[in-house]
This record gives sequence, structure tokens and C-alpha cells, in this order.
Amino acid sequence: MTTPQYLAAPAPGGYHPSSPLCRNCGGGHVEHMKVRSHVGALIYMKFERLEGPFCRDCGIAVVRQMTTRTLFLGWWSPFSLAIFTPFTLTWNLVAYRRFTRLPSSIPAPGRAWMDPGKPVLRRPVAYVALIPLLWFLGFVVSGIVLHA
Ligand SMILES: [Zn+2]
Repeated sequence: MTTPQYLAAPAPGGYHPSSPLCRNCGGGHVEHMKVRSHVGALIYMKFERLEGPFCRDCGIAVVRQMTTRTLFLGWWSPFSLAIFTPFTLTWNLVAYRRFTRLPSSIPAPGRAWMDPGKPVLRRPVAYVALIPLLWFLGFVVSGIVLHA
């Protein structure tokens, strides 16, 4: 698997979590939010987070990338399925809402917004999440039916 864009993105010089400028593009209207992703595969778990400040467009781009990664890779251990992945997705939804409330900002000279890409639900890989969810739902329903 290739390194996701958000992890390969270099932090520009002078970056600090409390900076008033977007850490990616240097734009002015920012929200200080962490964005998270979670990978859970039986005995392997990984918690990733990228700390803002991000402007509206870069923030949305990071949320989309990390949420898609979580939907794809976040379900494959029991604790991930029950706890960590729902938490990560809820967290990112809150971050997404806060970024979308910001006005668009203009990148610093020579820099650009991160590519926001497609919305999460238009990325086929996000639907991998349906497999464990349907399995879990089937598990619960069959439990109810068998014990009725
Ligand atoms: Zn930005």
C-alpha cells in the first residue's frame, strides 16, 4: 500500500499547532482540529492522527482521506469494530462539520490547497465497511431470531 497523501505532505516551515495559518497551504481561516484514522486487523492496530490547523479546503481533504482509510481498514479486529472505528468516524464527522463552517481561505503565495478528491461516499473503497457491518448486523439478527 502506498503512503497516503496526508502522511507524505511536508509540514511547511514554521508550522505549529497553535499557528493561525493552515499547516498545508498557509491560508488564513483555520480550525484547530485533529483528524484521525484507525487501522484494525486482528492483532494489529494503528491509530493515526494529523493535527491542524487546517483551512476549510485542506481540512475537508484530510477528513475525506483519513475517513476513507478508516472505512476500508478500520473494521478487522473486534475492538476496532465495536469501539475504535465508530469513535474515529464520529470524531471525523465533528471535524468535517467544523471545517465546512469556515469561509474559504486563499493559500499563501506558491502554495495550494490539498486536493479534496471525491466525497467519501463516492469512493468505492469506502463501501468495504458494509462487509463487517452486515456481518455484525446478521450476527445480531440471528441471535435475536434464535433466542426468540
Ligand atoms: Zn489549507
